[in-house]
Amino acid sequence: MRPIRITGDPVLHRPADPVGEVDDAVRALVDDMVETMHAAPGVGLAAPQVGESLRLFVWHWVDPDGALHEGVAVDPELWVSPLRLDELDLDAEEEGCLSAPGERFPLRRADRALLRARDLDGTPFEIAAEGWLARIFQHEFDHLDGVLYLDRLAHPHEKAAGKAVRRHSWGVPGLSWMPGVDDLEG
Ligand code: ZN
Repeated sequence: MRPIRITGDPVLHRPADPVGEVDDAVRALVDDMVETMHAAPGVGLAAPQVGESLRLFVWHWVDPDGALHEGVAVDPELWVSPLRLDELDLDAEEEGCLSAPGERFPLRRADRALLRARDLDGTPFEIAAEGWLARIFQHEFDHLDGVLYLDRLAHPHEKAAGKAVRRHSWGVPGLSWMPGVDDLEG
């Protein structure tokens, strides 16, 4: 388990470095990330969120049909379908982030995303995702580029998010929370 960095910590706001070869340190990091994601609980977690500026993320999500989607993406690439602005429905799709715990704001995402990455054995894989899984991939991939979903909010949600960040006294370096210890949802 590792503390989760809160928005404002510099590691969340800069591009992460490639992982390259997966060694024991990376495998230990992934174990910690999976444990932390489950404890939070969350559907995804990127390495910068636990203070490691590396291009990898984990996910774990059960879809409405009960199918489990989980995995580890090392040095991922992501392609997304164009946003369909004619179907813009910001209020329908709320997103949250463990680095801004307890807050949710609507954000339009691409409906489809193609993830290409390596697993912990170094084996390349590819997942064509739709809907929420595509959203998870876009959210986690953004973390590797130092982008939070809060940075992508459209008007007027970015104003509400800015207020929330100030209300929590976030937005400064060095803040984190520990799942199971700090109750930030309450
Ligand atoms: Zn996040």
